[in-house]
Amino acid sequence: MKEFLIHSNKCFINNQFVEATLYIKNKKIHQIFKGLNTIKNITFLDYDNLIVMPGIIDAHVHINEPGREDWEGFETATKAAAIGGVTTLIEMPLNANPVTTTANAFKLKQKAADQKLHVNCGFYGGVIPTNANDIEDLINEGVFGIKGFLTHSGIDEFPNITKAYLEEIAPILKKYDIPLLLHCELSDENVPKVINTKSYSEYLHSRPQHWETNAIDLALDIQKRFDIRVHIVHLSASDGLERIKIRKQLTNKLTVETCSHYLYFNAEDIPDASPIYKCAPPIREKANNNLLWNALLNDEFNFLSSDHSPAPPERKQLEKGDFFKAWGGISGLQFTLPILFSQGQKIGLTLEKLIPLLTENPAKFLELERQKGKLQEGFDADITVWNDSEAFTITEESIQHKHKATPYLNETLFGKVIHTFVNGVQVVKNSELNELKAGKLLLKK
Ligand SMILES: [Zn+2]
Repeated sequence: MKEFLIHSNKCFINNQFVEATLYIKNKKIHQIFKGLNTIKNITFLDYDNLIVMPGIIDAHVHINEPGREDWEGFETATKAAAIGGVTTLIEMPLNANPVTTTANAFKLKQKAADQKLHVNCGFYGGVIPTNANDIEDLINEGVFGIKGFLTHSGIDEFPNITKAYLEEIAPILKKYDIPLLLHCELSDENVPKVINTKSYSEYLHSRPQHWETNAIDLALDIQKRFDIRVHIVHLSASDGLERIKIRKQLTNKLTVETCSHYLYFNAEDIPDASPIYKCAPPIREKANNNLLWNALLNDEFNFLSSDHSPAPPERKQLEKGDFFKAWGGISGLQFTLPILFSQGQKIGLTLEKLIPLLTENPAKFLELERQKGKLQEGFDADITVWNDSEAFTITEESIQHKHKATPYLNETLFGKVIHTFVNGVQVVKNSELNELKAGKLLLKK
């Protein structure tokens, strides 16, 4: 179908729901008509009362190919994305092998993605203690940002960097005005001794809030002194919110995200010996997570992401239950929309607030806001169509990720994705994969 029309009573346009007809032509939203409009000889898709919105942009995903495709790969991850209404994702520089810290490694990753993209996919590069000379090449090759860790990343090929090293590369980031993405945990010895490695409470206390706030202070200091763009990924500690809010009043170069699992689960409900819930920073107590929700409702987060980071069952210690040996990462790329919508409804989050956090705002962060993130004439035809009143249960059969293990299994949620369009191609039809390989590889211009 080169051109067609999509009609719904609930199209999300200019931040409100209106009846409209979208005329899709040549991979773009060619024209938007108010109300119902047909054109002779052009296919008319009537979606009635389903929500029609811009495709979701997930700016924090780990796919791990090449090198660790037994953890997750482009084929499975982008199918899961499409089924979940995600039309664009940005992939992290780890845990592929080689890690994406040189232009060569970046080229290998692009090659690995070739012919496997069912949604659009862009990439970040990484900073490690030995690649200051590679940062400029990575930027010139088209990465959307440079990601670094302030504590052990979980894999030895991606060592963490120090403040001094960030000071060394900051002028390069400044020159290109490209964001530095930081995993903000600064480890120290000021933690309780671990006795039972299967205890969630002991795992939680092994990565305290002050690790996050100390790292955030370092990030804010670098941001301020070098006047560079700094993005704090996956904030979990509510103690970090106030200092970020204060700094953001003075600059638009500081951004922060949080992820679905910090908003959906609470430490009190996580059983011992269940590292399927392990991520870093950890999922904290309900009182903390309520403060994250308050911050979200007060527009303190720039956008939301999945931080999809799966690993094979053995690496997740699913049988042994050891939180300290298990891989830290939660698998959830496919479920961001229903998770946030279902939980958000209980808390009073409106769709007018949620949808931009998944679409327009990450587009802005990625500087894709002139082509993606809105239903607007001339924009890419990346469109998600979903039902806000149909409940469904997450079953193993419905999961497209490489591994079925996810803490979201068996959850019953609202917000089922029915159709997904990527560059004007219907990749998902009636919640099933339809026409594949419509995704484009995105390089930052
Ligand atoms: Zn991550």
